[in-house]
Amino acid sequence: MPSTTTVIVGAGHCGLAMSHCLAARSIDHIVLERAEVANSWRTQRWDSLRLLSPNWMTRLPGYRYRGDDPDGYLSAPEVAAMLGDYADTSAAPVLTSTTVTSVRAAGGGYVVRTDQGTWRARTVVLASGAAAVPAVPALARLVPAGLTCLTPVGYRNPGDLPGGGVLVVGASASGIQLADELHRCGHPVTLAVGEHVRMPRTYRGRDILWWLDASGVLDQRYDEVDDLVRARKVPSMQLVGSPGRTVDLNALSSAGVRLVGRLAGIADGVAQFSGSLPNVCALADLKLGRLLNTVDAWAGAAGERFAPTAVHSTPLGLDLRSGEISTIVWATGYRPDLSWLHVPVLERKGRVVHDGGVTACPGLYLIGMPFLRRRKSSLIDGAADDAAELTTHLAGYLDALAGRRERSAS
Ligand SMILES: Cc1cc2nc3c(=O)[nH]c(=O)nc-3n(C[C@H](O)[C@H](O)[C@H](O)COP(=O)(O)OP(=O)(O)OC[C@H]3O[C@@H](n4cnc5c(N)ncnc54)[C@H](O)[C@@H]3O)c2cc1C
Repeated sequence: MPSTTTVIVGAGHCGLAMSHCLAARSIDHIVLERAEVANSWRTQRWDSLRLLSPNWMTRLPGYRYRGDDPDGYLSAPEVAAMLGDYADTSAAPVLTSTTVTSVRAAGGGYVVRTDQGTWRARTVVLASGAAAVPAVPALARLVPAGLTCLTPVGYRNPGDLPGGGVLVVGASASGIQLADELHRCGHPVTLAVGEHVRMPRTYRGRDILWWLDASGVLDQRYDEVDDLVRARKVPSMQLVGSPGRTVDLNALSSAGVRLVGRLAGIADGVAQFSGSLPNVCALADLKLGRLLNTVDAWAGAAGERFAPTAVHSTPLGLDLRSGEISTIVWATGYRPDLSWLHVPVLERKGRVVHDGGVTACPGLYLIGMPFLRRRKSSLIDGAADDAAELTTHLAGYLDALAGRRERSAS
């Protein structure tokens, strides 16, 4: 059975960032990837998607964007190409087409089974992605037969849809982008809106992410927030990777997208929407105002404020059998898939319990989850700091392990 010091599961940007940091400390490791490097950007993104983070923010350990469009936004194939180059220039030891089928603790380390053979490792880093599969609510099973149901993972372009009305469920980054695209292609679009994070694309003449980066908002640490469980559940920002274009609820409803409340149930084929839309919009407006106040305090000057989200009277029910809606897009988020992890670190819903990526099982680490160690942890730009700190912890663990072995041998 081949052995190595560290197995990294997944060759997305997080796995590659970890590999770069381990290599810098000469820690022997292997990256196991079920498909190709950057698989999620090759196979799980829709055609028109561009990063919502600007190119200058595409930073990884030992890499920063050097192209001629720092304020642009990479397309998914461009991200895949960038990560492919990064893996090559880092000489990352990636084994592609190797699916990890189980990870178990054994003999003070881990046994990692794959469809290509079994590895033994003292430490394992789980970098298999926070957005591995779409998170579709259980009520989706109540959708009447005959409607087309899609998720952002399976959707490629408007050609995937039959004609007619579309109900997009979820108004975070994926939901607003798909509602916008489908509306522009002539579909009547209804957007079911729950808790969301309103964000202008530009603020005081700069990309909003420039302000959040420069003011340190994105660097806020996991051990500094009052309610970490809640902070880790905050939805993605309503942003689209298009220079200067804000796609918030006001922009969508002015263009003709119908806003309704959160989808609360489906009974006898009728979609039931929560009456909380005015409240969730008021809350999102309030939180945006607070965020801009933080930025202003850092900048030492007040900037513009945005009109409150306009909420008109909205229907509380929509008959899905009437023919008005032919497609439902479940833009209700994503979740990890760790069904192959057989180590007792999972909570009831199958998520890894961890403290900043360090699990209770010595030598088992996690990277790439929302607010893992910082607010920016779920962004490409967040991987560098997280990977550096986890590598420091992992190296310390290996040193302690070696010390224990030396002592017991003498
Ligand atoms: C729609 C969408 C848009 C996003 N836009 C942005 C953006 O604009 N800017 C930004 O900074 N971030 C963005 N993100 C967030 C984040 O950067 C991406 O989710 C990113 O792909 C996460 O990187 P990762 O390395 O953690 O996981 P992934 O990219 O998902 O990589 C995980 C890898 O693990 C592999 N894998 C999984 N299971 C196994 C297994 N059992 N065995 C072997 N290999 C396995 C997968 O094939 C995959 O290659 C976006 C996310 C989504 C979903």
